[in-house]
Amino acid sequence: MSETTPTHHLPPDGLRRFATIWCRALYPATATSMTKREFEDLLVALSERLAIALRARSFDPSPGVSVGEALVTAHCTAPEALTRALGVIDAYLLLYCADPAVLGPDEGRSRCAKLQHAIAAGFARALQERTRSEQEALSVAALTAQTEIANALHESETRFRAVFRDAALGIAIAGIDGEIIDTNESFARMMGSASPPRRRNVLDWTHPDDSPEVWRLQRELMRGEREHYQVEKPYGRTDGTVLWTNLTVSLLRDAEGEPRYMLVMVEDVSERRLLNLRLRYQATHDALTDLPNRSMFFERLEQALAAGSSQSRVGLCYLDLDGFKAVNDSLGHAVGDQLLIAVAERLQPCASGPGQMLARIGGDEFVALFVDPPTVDSVAELARRALDALATPVTVGDRELMVRASIGVVEGPTRHLTSAEVLRSADITMYRAKAEGGNRYALADPDSDARAISRHHLTHHLPAALKGCEFFIEYQPLVRMEDGSLEGAEALVRWSHPRHGVLGPDRFIPLAEHTGLIVPLGRWVLQEAVRQACQWQVRGIGGPRPLRVNVNLSPRQLHHPELVEDTVAVLEEAGLPPSALCLEVTETAMIRADENELRPLRELAELGVGIALDDFGTGYSNLANLRRLPANTLKLDRSFTQGLQRDPADPVDLKIVEGIVSLAHALRLSVTVEGVETSTQAEQLRELGCDSAQGWFYARPGPPERLPEAV
Ligand code: C2E
Ligand code: CA
Ligand code: CA
Repeated sequence: MSETTPTHHLPPDGLRRFATIWCRALYPATATSMTKREFEDLLVALSERLAIALRARSFDPSPGVSVGEALVTAHCTAPEALTRALGVIDAYLLLYCADPAVLGPDEGRSRCAKLQHAIAAGFARALQERTRSEQEALSVAALTAQTEIANALHESETRFRAVFRDAALGIAIAGIDGEIIDTNESFARMMGSASPPRRRNVLDWTHPDDSPEVWRLQRELMRGEREHYQVEKPYGRTDGTVLWTNLTVSLLRDAEGEPRYMLVMVEDVSERRLLNLRLRYQATHDALTDLPNRSMFFERLEQALAAGSSQSRVGLCYLDLDGFKAVNDSLGHAVGDQLLIAVAERLQPCASGPGQMLARIGGDEFVALFVDPPTVDSVAELARRALDALATPVTVGDRELMVRASIGVVEGPTRHLTSAEVLRSADITMYRAKAEGGNRYALADPDSDARAISRHHLTHHLPAALKGCEFFIEYQPLVRMEDGSLEGAEALVRWSHPRHGVLGPDRFIPLAEHTGLIVPLGRWVLQEAVRQACQWQVRGIGGPRPLRVNVNLSPRQLHHPELVEDTVAVLEEAGLPPSALCLEVTETAMIRADENELRPLRELAELGVGIALDDFGTGYSNLANLRRLPANTLKLDRSFTQGLQRDPADPVDLKIVEGIVSLAHALRLSVTVEGVETSTQAEQLRELGCDSAQGWFYARPGPPERLPEAV
């Protein structure tokens, strides 16, 4: 034991208990002359070496080698001895000899496996050395007197034979030309042949996965330039399977020192190898989709960035599903998981070319890496393929789900780039694709990166802004067309940013939507607007008919499980009747929703809350579909009324608006028009039968105090 070892940290009870178990397993398999008690004491000493190695701050498995050797010295050479020794270590070493507070379970397992490996190696080497000394004894004996020779030879031979025959290791003896002379049964079994594979040559055992190193070592040994070598090497067995071995080959010399034989010792490490491969696979792959995971992706990306020459380039497509959170929240995680698996299957073939790899690096985030793409466009092409692959709906159980994605595409020289920079640029670009409506890809460029960084900055400050009351609401009147009276107002949120001044909702609502902060922000807007509507009521503004307040609801809020509860609570707390509130949901969000997702809106509508289909006409909805939606108002998007600004108005636009209005009325929906800026427009829309209107012609959005002046 070295002086630096903190022996007082070793658990003497644990060591003794471990040694007892070990002794119980090993003693029957030894040919030792020691008593059981003496043997156990020896094992305590060996256990101590293992425990110290296991607990060392920087791990070194080599004490395992000495333990393996000690086992051979103690005559633990029966075929099952090594297996038993390793079996006990596998099951009990960590339990009794490790300190779980210091050593994590993974690190513990890994150290234990390496120690086992070292023990097996030490064991094999000692056994081989011993075999060789037997062999030497054989030659020495040959030189002594005739009778002595006979005796010594006999005795030595018997002992050698016993080791050779019964060893769990595969042992073969070959001539110096490589021709096999004798093998034991373990060897024949490992090679997969019933009878020992004699008259074959060691040199035939090349395998496509051999490293060139192996055959160089072998040639050196055959020329007598090296005494032995040890390698890990695969063999093709006679049944076609592959055996992975830890192979030790030693040169046996005759009395004159001339190379005569080769002693080949083979330890079957196939299982250990499989275990290692499996562990490596698990550590580098995503359990859900079986794709390479984040750590493997970074490994590859870093390799590409490091190995690249001055001309090398790297491409990356960073893909994030649009609205995946909504699927997860409304349909449950099981459906979400199935969807991700299906998406992975769709995407996989898009990135299967040379230098390409698809990985899943987060919840609904996938990346395709393209090492050395021929052109920028080949990376964009990959992104297009990915979007195409998602174009048709995915079937999950009995549902058909539309999957859309936003992709950030980055391409550039590997020089001067770090993996973090590449990923950040891809991430920023992906958000740009999302902000531009999603279901598309965008190419990274420094200017928009800079803009996005400021977006990133805003996102970062949103939570504090909400806490610090930096938001306020402006109200824009809604006017009845029949008599120009005030029907209500739409609440439009603004952010009074300490550095950037007043920011419109288009600057931050998409960010809040993406980060989920829209839920608390939306709740604040709702509370504030409802409180305001109560004040208008109390002050009698709007005459006999109480004013209605319209509040925008973002898709994320629509999917929030507490939407109904929250809304009812806010109304009750303020004492506002549900009919004085109208929630505006965009047409796009509403037509995308399935029956489950519409249920909360339906419940609210049944309570008397108005539901408006916002930005109508921009979502290409099937008009027949309107019937199934719980809306009672349709807000015709500004783009429709633009054509009516001209004098005379565009006749096609007139016809379209007329058609929509009559269809809406047939479905008992009232029609509000947005963006009315001129009196001509207002007059025409009134004639077409629109019920109410909103726009600069009546009033711009403003503080709540200004509302009474609006009409
Ligand atoms: P929106 O719901 O379509 O709101 C109407 C937008 O049109 C407002 O822009 C309003 O200022 C603008 N507008 C009104 N009259 C006219 C007009 O005559 N001509 C023109 N050119 N524009 C007019 P704003 O306030 O910038 O809001 C933009 C969008 O932000 C809103 O569109 C709404 O979708 C969203 N938003 C606003 N407040 C909230 C909120 O509290 N929650 C959520 N989720 N979204 C909000
Ligand atoms: Ca709106
Ligand atoms: Ca609108």
